[in-house]
Amino acid sequence: MQLELSQEHKDFQQEVRDFLATHLTDEIRQNSAIQASVRTDVDTATKWSKILAKKGWLAYTWPKSMGGPGFDITQRYIFESECALAGTPQLNNMGFRMVGPIIEKYGTKEQKDYHLPRIAQHEDTWCQGYSEPGAGSDLASLQTKAVSDGDDYVINGTKIWTTGAHYADHCFCLVRTSSAGKKQQGISFVLIDMKTPGITVDPIIMISGDHELNQVFFDDVRIPKSNRVGPENEGWTVAKYHLEFERGAIAYTPSLKAALENVKEIASKEPTGTGEYLINDNGFNKRLRDLEIRVMSAEYTERRFMSALSRGGNPGANASISKLMGSELNQEISELRMEAVGYHALPFLPETRIPGNNTAFPGPERARTATAKYLNNRATTIYAGSSEVQRTVVSKQILGL
Ligand SMILES: Cc1cc2nc3c(=O)[nH]c(=O)nc-3n(C[C@H](O)[C@H](O)[C@H](O)COP(=O)(O)OP(=O)(O)OC[C@H]3O[C@@H](n4cnc5c(N)ncnc54)[C@H](O)[C@@H]3O)c2cc1C
Repeated sequence: MQLELSQEHKDFQQEVRDFLATHLTDEIRQNSAIQASVRTDVDTATKWSKILAKKGWLAYTWPKSMGGPGFDITQRYIFESECALAGTPQLNNMGFRMVGPIIEKYGTKEQKDYHLPRIAQHEDTWCQGYSEPGAGSDLASLQTKAVSDGDDYVINGTKIWTTGAHYADHCFCLVRTSSAGKKQQGISFVLIDMKTPGITVDPIIMISGDHELNQVFFDDVRIPKSNRVGPENEGWTVAKYHLEFERGAIAYTPSLKAALENVKEIASKEPTGTGEYLINDNGFNKRLRDLEIRVMSAEYTERRFMSALSRGGNPGANASISKLMGSELNQEISELRMEAVGYHALPFLPETRIPGNNTAFPGPERARTATAKYLNNRATTIYAGSSEVQRTVVSKQILGL
């Protein structure tokens, strides 16, 4: 594993830095800085997505053959690191990160020709309809039914925790097309236009006050069978491929490092009451250094996986290690950040994090998102597969227990 960047990669790093210095406006950066959830507000995220799309860098994980920039693994890592350090918006990545690669692998020519360019240009936004009230970790228990009717399916049921369903144009969805055999059999993967009659989206407000989650109801929703991706009843295979990428092709450590820098900055401004700053407090420092060491160890683990990926192959069960380390460290950093701002963490005013809202935050700017981020990050060890489930994957598939 080569850790030093080659000259070519250093040049690319500079190109990314120059691009960010020119295109990441103060407004976009500030709107991004006040968000606490996994997504920056839709308007800001759309603005930034369009800027990236124009440069050809929105679907930055895609090869040239799919309409992406064809970055190698190191370029992707550099791009993600520079974006995290610069504070770019958290984008709805369900199009380019999740459904795009699935359509490329399992889709028909028509599906590829229609959807891939629209995803790369941010013409459409996507949401993921997998989880149901009775099917989360045990996803194969899903009950939303798609009944065959001529050239169509008629869909009935409900999906829950659907991030971004309230603004998404399309949903990629797992539905039950057969009840025969094992529960993993009889599932199909379909694409649903969110404007189809019979779809209702109800908001679920998070503990942080943010609206990113929803419950989606399907009442006799009719979609053409040509919207199915992959063979009927083989959606589980499609979903498994996707879940690996959802967990594994993501580099967590660039944003963890940026979050730790933010905690350090807060601690260097936060007085302790003894004429000192928090950053010089031994107890605080010990926790900070401990997290730094663990983030560094996660980074090298991640680089090791990336290095393997660059030689071809899927993330496999290693994806669970990255997901586990990334999500748990993320939580701990946000916990330390909230502690660092002390009593400024107390005001709960979600409206002070809405771009354009003129309600002043009653404390220093550095404290504005601390509590909301802490609360929102409780979810990191649940979504995209809970920590308990990831530990089971690691123990069985990697440790062979
Ligand atoms: C912020 C957020 C965003 C999300 N976005 C989406 C989205 O866009 N689309 C989507 O489809 N879903 C989404 N989800 C849903 C997410 O994938 C599920 O919440 C997750 O898979 C857990 O399922 P569950 O909530 O039904 O909990 P359950 O599966 O009921 O789990 C409850 C508890 O039991 C534990 N548990 C369950 N099974 C086992 C086991 N076999 N061994 C050990 N422990 C176990 C779990 O770890 C957890 O602690 C989102 C969730 C959150 C919190």
